Amino acid sequence: MNVCNNYIAGEWLAGAAVTVNRNPSNVADVVGEYAQADAAQTRTAVAAAKAAFPAWATGSIQERSNILDRAGSEVLARKDELGRLLSREEGKTLPEGIGEAMRAGQIFKFFAGEVLRAAGEKLPSVRPGVDVEVTREPIGVVGLITPWNFPIAIPAWKIAPALAHGNTVVFKPADLVPGSAWALAEILVKAGLPAGVFNLVMGRGSVVGEVLVNHPDVAAISFTGSVGTGRAIAAKAIGRMAKLQLEMGGKNPLVVLDDADLAVAVNAATQGAYYSTGQRCTASSRLIVTAGIHDRFVAALTAKLKSLKVDDALAAGTDIGPVVDQSQLDQDLAYVEVGKAEGATLAVGGERLQRANDGFYLAPALFTGTTNAMRIAREEIFGPVACVIEAKDYDEALALANDTEFGLCSGIVTTSLKHASHYKRHAQAGMVMVNLPTAGVDYHVPFGGRKGSSYGSREQGRYAAEFFTTVKTTYTAP
Ligand code: NAD
Repeated sequence: MNVCNNYIAGEWLAGAAVTVNRNPSNVADVVGEYAQADAAQTRTAVAAAKAAFPAWATGSIQERSNILDRAGSEVLARKDELGRLLSREEGKTLPEGIGEAMRAGQIFKFFAGEVLRAAGEKLPSVRPGVDVEVTREPIGVVGLITPWNFPIAIPAWKIAPALAHGNTVVFKPADLVPGSAWALAEILVKAGLPAGVFNLVMGRGSVVGEVLVNHPDVAAISFTGSVGTGRAIAAKAIGRMAKLQLEMGGKNPLVVLDDADLAVAVNAATQGAYYSTGQRCTASSRLIVTAGIHDRFVAALTAKLKSLKVDDALAAGTDIGPVVDQSQLDQDLAYVEVGKAEGATLAVGGERLQRANDGFYLAPALFTGTTNAMRIAREEIFGPVACVIEAKDYDEALALANDTEFGLCSGIVTTSLKHASHYKRHAQAGMVMVNLPTAGVDYHVPFGGRKGSSYGSREQGRYAAEFFTTVKTTYTAP
């Protein structure tokens, strides 16, 4: 098997070591072998990005747009192959993997257009005869650090705006999913990026990530991952006054009111809490259900969960693939025990499943009789585990929904315009869903949260410019 190397300063370079990437649906299946950079190689990548910055920042925007457009076209043309690779290394189902690859392609297409829409403002000055211009400029070398759960979409939604706005990039993917990152890097290289503009540095967070976070030549860090890692990165990056964007965890509520359409509610809960094996920052792991519909909702959701097919991510008909690896499975199983010990009732699932191949299969778990004070209702589990919290009415449901340290996404299922309107205004989250699952967002509008979920400006769409540019105000006298 060929080792897939890092891409630094326009060359594919072997690393200091090699890792093997395995398929969580079948641990005997080796997906590939990938280079692991050390600190010195990471510093070389930062130097290459620094050297490439002036020409890229001031070069032809038509060329920049063309490159992003070509990359987007190739990702879209190869969506089936990229989706298969993604599902094989991460464990989400093949339709989910293909859908994610498509989204990555669309993101590159969107930012190919954004390159040409870099508008500023021209205003009169309060001083007669003077002009004021407000323009945006790139910030420099950006370090992009991504998690394993969206192996191609999250890299795309950081790399595309970073490049579109004229920055140069050092990209460090998550250790568990180098395959999708490497495939995307190869597509970007083929699309014609000049040497040094984009660098792929695979390796450990504690090695590669640490260098990026601490390096004085890395002007900005955009990170998506867990709260713990995000906090540690923040302490260092803010200490040296780097620009910082953090997207972290969630404990997203889905409120179901008495007047909800039961089928819509069960579908939103199933999709939002369990699809992609529940491994989404936007997963609705707290189902807050009012008393009049509670028993019907629990019965219907339990029946639905029993009917879901948990199996190999690549097999036709699989609804839910495996958990990503042994340590995440151990964490999920440990939380199932925590929920039982706290006095919640395990209505269905929560046990490890055996399938034809040796993989990390878990039966989707639903707890009832949960209070919002329990750990299973407060801590991000990041697996196919959700809990039902009963509320007496809308007001209590809203209060429970907002009673969390997180604030990424918040959902409600109701046929009441009054309650939907009130919820949209009062949900303390960066994203709100009405009669939709909390997970599943568009690529052309802002993504991000409040409170402990996010720090810094929003990702995606036009709002990405907030992070990937800096504003200049220019005064001109005649
Ligand atoms: P993680 O925090 O373990 O790792 C994220 C990335 O940080 C990886 O690339 C990792 O190698 C790197 N890293 C680890 N230690 C580092 C260090 N000391 N310095 C620099 N980089 C370091 O997260 P994960 O397990 O890969 O992903 C799961 C988490 O991501 C969940 O908490 C989930 O909620 C979150 N997530 C959030 C969003 C969002 O947009 N809010 C989206 C997807 C995932």
